[in-house]
Amino acid sequence: MHEMALMGDILNIIQNDIQKRNLSKVTKIELIVGDISNALPDALEMAFSIYKTQSISFLDKETTLVIHREKALAKCYICSEEYVPDQKLAICPSCKIPSGNLISGETFKVYSYEGCS
Ligand SMILES: [Zn+2]
Repeated sequence: MHEMALMGDILNIIQNDIQKRNLSKVTKIELIVGDISNALPDALEMAFSIYKTQSISFLDKETTLVIHREKALAKCYICSEEYVPDQKLAICPSCKIPSGNLISGETFKVYSYEGCS
C-alpha cells in the first residue's frame, strides 16, 4: 500500500509548514486526488487513520481528512474533443489513437489545512 508513503509525505510537508507558522495542532487536512493519480482515496483514508494512532504530535483523534476528487479529462489535439480517459494513454474516442493531452485527473496535493497553536 504505497498510500502509506504518500500520506507520510503529506504529513511531512504539513509538519514543516506548521513549524514555520508556529502552529502545534492540525484540525483538518484537505487533499485533491485525481481520478487517475496513483493514489486511492480509500487507502489514503486508511493510511491516515493508521498515522493518527502513531502519536504524531500535531495529529489527534479529532483531526479530519477531506479528499476532493478531481475528474480525469483529456482533450484530443487532433479533433479537440474532450473526453474522460480511462487510463493515462488517453485514446481519443473519435480518432482512436492516443492523441489526448490530459487536462486534469493526475493531481495529488494538499489543497489546504487548518491548524491552531
Ligand atoms: Zn480526436
